[in-house]
Amino acid sequence: MSDKSKIAIQKIQSENVQKAVYKALELINAGEIMKKDQVILLKPNILGAKPPERAATTHPEVVKAVIHWVKKYNPKKVYLCDSSGTSKPGATELAMKESGLKALCDEESVECIPFEKTERKIYTVDDPLEINEITSSILLEKADIIINLPKIKTHGQCLLTCCIKNMFGTILLGNKARTHAKSALIDRFSAALADIYSVSKPHLTVIDGYLCQEGKGPSAGDVVKLDVIIAGYDPVALDTVVCQITGMNPNDVIHLKKAEDKRLGTMNMDNIEILGNSVQDVYRKFKIPKIRPVSAPLPRWLANYLGNLIFRATVKFNPDKCRLCATCWENCPVDAIIPPKEIKKGNIPKWNKKKCITCYCCVELCPYEAVDFKINYAKNVIFSWTGIITIAIITILSFLLFLWVASIS
Ligand code: SF4
Ligand code: SF4
Repeated sequence: MSDKSKIAIQKIQSENVQKAVYKALELINAGEIMKKDQVILLKPNILGAKPPERAATTHPEVVKAVIHWVKKYNPKKVYLCDSSGTSKPGATELAMKESGLKALCDEESVECIPFEKTERKIYTVDDPLEINEITSSILLEKADIIINLPKIKTHGQCLLTCCIKNMFGTILLGNKARTHAKSALIDRFSAALADIYSVSKPHLTVIDGYLCQEGKGPSAGDVVKLDVIIAGYDPVALDTVVCQITGMNPNDVIHLKKAEDKRLGTMNMDNIEILGNSVQDVYRKFKIPKIRPVSAPLPRWLANYLGNLIFRATVKFNPDKCRLCATCWENCPVDAIIPPKEIKKGNIPKWNKKKCITCYCCVELCPYEAVDFKINYAKNVIFSWTGIITIAIITILSFLLFLWVASIS
């Protein structure tokens, strides 16, 4: 028998999401891990309070198909849990309602509960890359089967959010901001993501590739109707295949490499067996966010330095869209956003460039898509120390050349 990571790709035909989910699960023999009377934990992506058609949260049709599939095995109890990106109390409940997942759970007698409302437990990370302990829900331990239900979206900081990044939602509210602040560099944050995934380690993953987001994902991007379901067990292989399907370079998604280093799966396509449809059958190049050029064939420190130098983004607030709801300044992990003195239409928050760690949380969490990142490449280079020194050297050399030409003529 092949010991390759098996990944099933299934096109959604004629809007029949359930048929695609069932077929994908059959292709990877997912029924083999299911038994009667199990406690099942479903972990969708419920980033924020957005409706399903905005493609920021796992689509209810995909979740519904998985619930129906799970019910065939007579589970003792099914939970659907997440902790939204915003730390405000009640934010996850609101996101569950707006995403359509609360209503679905009520219909299907599934317990829909924010992780932060369950009993807490501190987990120790084995062979940590960045975090030693993770505070999450007791349900990660109590569940017999954890099913990861991520969505395919581009991500301003991490490039891709799918299997591994989705489990960041298992840590509770304010702890997310603390992780961003403590592990601000993309290298360290990616290592933290791999550590977090290693604690929850889902038994099965069903990827929602029905409606996806490209460009300014994961919440303000353009919707892509990719019409695909992908299922498997190996998160690194699954995310690598998603990169192939969406035209991204898996080496640019640093948390994949970190997760591979942690032996959570493989990025090597030779070790991955694709079942059902091929990558080419569902290929659609996604518009990717303009983040730092991490795949440059340079030592990591130099790539990070140049990335920070050239690709450093400026946060911009759109006064026409901003409703001064406070989400951005309440959730910025390093207090780099200051509310305006007067809360009145037309005023916008202020951004503190020096404090900002480019974590992308404000863009991701603004409910009104009023925050944007702008990158002025030339300005970044010219106004950096490297730029100033380069310009000074060029000026001195030009002056010396001028003197030399003048002296011989
Ligand atoms: S930018 Fe967005 S999150 Fe920040 S105050 Fe305005 S509407 Fe709220
Ligand atoms: S201003 Fe935005 S990008 Fe910068 S640290 Fe705060 S939340 Fe992150």
